[in-house]
Amino acid sequence: MRPLMLVTGGSRGIGAATARLAARRGYDVVVGYRSDAQAAAAVVAEVEAAGGHGLAVAGDVGVEADVVALFEAADRLGPLAVLVNNAGVVDAPGVLADMSAARIERVMRINVTGSLLCAREAVRRMARSRGGAGGAIVNLSSAAAKLGAPGGRIEYAAAKGAIDSFTVGLAREVADEAIRVTAVRPGIIDTEIHASGGEPGRVAEIAGTLPMRRAGTAEEVAEAILWLASDAAAYSTGAILDVSGGRSITP
Ligand code: NAP
Repeated sequence: MRPLMLVTGGSRGIGAATARLAARRGYDVVVGYRSDAQAAAAVVAEVEAAGGHGLAVAGDVGVEADVVALFEAADRLGPLAVLVNNAGVVDAPGVLADMSAARIERVMRINVTGSLLCAREAVRRMARSRGGAGGAIVNLSSAAAKLGAPGGRIEYAAAKGAIDSFTVGLAREVADEAIRVTAVRPGIIDTEIHASGGEPGRVAEIAGTLPMRRAGTAEEVAEAILWLASDAAAYSTGAILDVSGGRSITP
């Protein structure tokens, strides 16, 4: 039987690249998405072309009932082995002095509350003490967690800082439940998230200033996620792996 991976935000970008690579590495994949059913169905078709079972499930990770329904749908494919907590959003660039409470609340709800709720559902299924077989959770942080994103998106950076703390805390909380919890911290990755945050030209503008003089690809992040999820990383938990081309290295 192929192990089952659930990828939130699997309809495009890093999530879609992760779903595709996972299928090639032998996983069945549940593709969570919010709105783009056509894109999610296309990823599922690629998963099935690679020999895996795929299932697309719509829902907002920031809404508890949707998260519960997402995991119940996944249960129909088999026991969950891996959660990739990938769904995330950015807002348009702005300074804190101009931010509304609604903006801050939305960024925190989707990026932080959503990830915590998904991890909760995964732990309930994976924990040995609850009859589970263990598993792995890989969270999507960001280089912004270390850089702080001043003058642009400090609320997003704060949300990703919360992901770092939650990764370390949950890893220790469930270490004896055979569940590993890790994260990747991508730098500037060439996906549609920049356009969705009102900056379609961001990658082209910033690429030349990066240490490698280029942005990363969704596939490069997916490789790190698949490694952290795999048994090859069996003794890594609470680890947060920079996939930033050197952007966020601190001494
Ligand atoms: P993306 O291309 O914008 O894709 C986002 C995905 O998340 C889509 O599948 C989208 O579904 C889904 N999604 C958005 N809001 C959702 C919600 N409320 N509920 C459920 N699904 C939702 O993003 P990406 O660049 O691949 O980023 C993936 C993750 O990496 C995010 O957590 C992001 O913060 C992080 N990251 C990205 C970068 C980067 O430079 N790209 C850097 C650091 C960290 P629909 O399309 O159906 O709406």
